[in-house]
Amino acid sequence: MTATPLMAIPGLVDPVPTPRDVTARADGRVDLIGLPRTRIAGLLAEAGLDAKAARLRARQLFHWLYHRGVTDFGAMTDIAKPMRPWLAERFVIGRPEVATEQISRDGTRKWLLTTADGHDFEMVFIPDADRGTLCVSSQVGCTLNCRFCHTGTMRLVRNLTPGEIVGQVMLARDALGEWPRGAMADLPDESLDATADAHAYTADGRLLTNIVMMGMGEPLYNFDNVRDALALVMDGDGLALSKRRITLSTSGVVPLMARCGEEIGVNLAVSLHAVSKEVRDEIVPINRKYGLDALLAACAAYPGASNARRITFEYVMLKDRNDRDEDARELVRLLRQHKLPAKVNLIPFNPWPGAPYECSTPERIRAFSEIVFAAGISAPVRTPRGRDIDAACGQLKTAARKLSRAEHDRLVEEKQAALG
Ligand code: SAH
Ligand code: SF4
Repeated sequence: MTATPLMAIPGLVDPVPTPRDVTARADGRVDLIGLPRTRIAGLLAEAGLDAKAARLRARQLFHWLYHRGVTDFGAMTDIAKPMRPWLAERFVIGRPEVATEQISRDGTRKWLLTTADGHDFEMVFIPDADRGTLCVSSQVGCTLNCRFCHTGTMRLVRNLTPGEIVGQVMLARDALGEWPRGAMADLPDESLDATADAHAYTADGRLLTNIVMMGMGEPLYNFDNVRDALALVMDGDGLALSKRRITLSTSGVVPLMARCGEEIGVNLAVSLHAVSKEVRDEIVPINRKYGLDALLAACAAYPGASNARRITFEYVMLKDRNDRDEDARELVRLLRQHKLPAKVNLIPFNPWPGAPYECSTPERIRAFSEIVFAAGISAPVRTPRGRDIDAACGQLKTAARKLSRAEHDRLVEEKQAALG
C-alpha cells in the first residue's frame, strides 16, 4: 500500500482541501468517474479532439457513465467504433474495489471498500418496505471524536474524492442491478438528455431510493468533494436522484451549513445528541468550537428548510447521560425558541467494544419520545439495523486501523486540543 500522510486536523473554519480531482494511475490512464462534463471535455481536448467534438463526446460519455452505469467503452453504441479503443487507451471507468461484503439477518448489506491507494472505508445499504437507503461515507476515518462513535476512534486518513463518493452509489446500483435499460442507444445524439428515455423506466420499484451522507466521516469537512459528487448524483442526465431524497448529516460545522443549503441543496440532519453545553461538549466535542446557540441559529437559517422540508435532529440515547425527561423538555424548548421546522430521530446507542456508554432502556426511550411527540414534534425511535455485522450508526470502523487504548487516548487529547 502507498503511504498516505495523515491529514491535518482542519483549522477554525476551513474544510480540508483535497487538491486533485484526477486519480493518478500507474498506467497513465485517467479514471473518469467523479468528473463533471466540463472536465471530461477538457481531458478530451487535451487528448487531441477539437473543442466542439470534445463537448459532444463529453456529453455522450457523461450519459453512459452516470446515467447508464456502463463500465466498458465498447458498449457505448452511439460513439463511433474506432473511437472506443481510442478512449480505452486513455481513460478508465472505475469503481471502488470491494474487499468484502456482508449481509445482516435483517437484510442490511455492508461493503468494505478499498481506495486505489489502499485505504479501507465502508458503505451500507438499508432496505425497508417502502424505500432503500444507501449510507455513504465521505472520509476515511474522521477528524472529530464524538465519544459514542466508533468511527471517531479512527485517525482521519484522508478525504474521499468525488469519484470515490459517487462511486459508492454507482457500485450499489451495480450490485442491485438498477441501471436503467431504455432504448436510448438507438436515439439520435440530440435526444441525449434525461427526458429522452424517461418513458422506458421510472424510479418506482427501485430498491435504492434514498441517500444519506451518514457513513464514515464529517461530510462538511470534505465540502467540495461531497458537493461535486452529489451534483453528479442529482444531475438529471446523471444518476438523477432528487435532492429531496438525499440527506447530509453534520455534527455541527456551523460555518459551512449555509453553503451546504445554497450549493448542495439537500436535506439537512444535525447530530444534536444533547441540550446542554456541558453534555454536548463531552459527547460531541465540536460543540466547544461551535456551541448550541450558533448551531441552532444556523439551522433556523438553513436555506430550503420549511415545514414541508424539516431539519432532522439526531439524538443518540445514552443511559443516564442525555435521556432524562427534563432533557426531552429542554429539547422541545430549544426547538421552539429557534422556531425550527424540526423532526427528531431518536437513535438507540449502538454499542462497540470499549465504548464508554450504554444504551438507554426501551422504557426511557419511549418516555423521552412521548414528551417530544406531545409537543407536536415527530420523534420516532429508529430501529437499529445491521448491528450483527457492525453496520449500524456509529459502528463503522475499518479493521486495518485499530488503535491501542493508549494511542486512542492520545488521539482524543490531540483532537480536543485542536478544537480549542
Ligand atoms: N459525521 C456525521 C455523519 C456520520 S454519523 C455526523 O456526525 O453527523 C451518522 C449518525 O450516527 C450521527 O448522528 C452520529 O452521531 C450517529 N452515531 C454515531 N455513533 C453512534 C452510535 N454508537 N450509536 C448510535 N448512533 C451513533
Ligand atoms: Fe465523526 Fe460523525 Fe462519528 Fe462524530 S459522529 S466522530 S462527526 S463520524
